[in-house]
Amino acid sequence: MISSLRPLLLSAALCLLPSVVSAKPEKILAPLADGFDYPVGKPNAVNYYKARGFWPGVHPGEDWNGKGGGNTDLGDPVYSIAHGVVVASADYKRGWGHCVIVRHAYRAADGKIRYVDSQYAHLNVRNVKLHQVIERGTKVGTIGTAHGKYLAHLHFEIRKNLRIGMNRSQFSRTYEHYYSPTPFIQKHRKLKSARRRHQIPVNTFAAYGSSKYPAAAKNLPSGKIPTVPDDKSRKLDPKLKKRIADNRSDAKEEEEFEGFWKRLKNRIKPGKPTEGGTE
Ligand SMILES: [Zn+2]
Repeated sequence: MISSLRPLLLSAALCLLPSVVSAKPEKILAPLADGFDYPVGKPNAVNYYKARGFWPGVHPGEDWNGKGGGNTDLGDPVYSIAHGVVVASADYKRGWGHCVIVRHAYRAADGKIRYVDSQYAHLNVRNVKLHQVIERGTKVGTIGTAHGKYLAHLHFEIRKNLRIGMNRSQFSRTYEHYYSPTPFIQKHRKLKSARRRHQIPVNTFAAYGSSKYPAAAKNLPSGKIPTVPDDKSRKLDPKLKKRIADNRSDAKEEEEFEGFWKRLKNRIKPGKPTEGGTE
């Protein structure tokens, strides 16, 4: 009896094998977002302020700081803005530090399911893993300095193009690919879709620094795979175009901006009165 079952069991085991070995999943079941909150001072960013806003073509996200300024917010919790699935969680070093990207599915006003990615950058630590299903308000990490490169702050983005991942330089920093975070959150504070679950597409990013996109990136409902780099939107900004030509990385651009603020802040350090009050 047992021996006659053996070939059957063996073939069943072989059938299972490909799914065990098979590489990355293309979809993960996660709850639809029932609303979007701010990533700090949950849910309303209480005791935080926006140090730098969304600036199309230049800064495709927002920088959030604790009201105490300086590094007083180092180690403060950073929260997922909505239910979703973690699509990136790693230490990207080179100016980025620890980063987490969460993908959210939500029912838009027109009844259709839409997706956005929220990115949390320069983190001190990460508290979630790749492909983890998380909720609105789940702690994804803490505010950091990108390994001491900047004064502590959260760099935060909301993307409508689900292919960006950590390869920001391959996409124009415009409304074609991004939402301005605060207006997006304000518009979607409460959504009807509570308790519904949805198969969310995952593994749509090229590896960091690569322009080879996986198959799942081609099957996304909207947007297109970029040509590298996307010059079209940069026509209006010759300075930025030159930077790309100079092969400067995203991290370097970010560093330049942050460096400017750091130098400014160092000049007006609290507790160090300037002589004559002229500075
Ligand atoms: Zn920033």
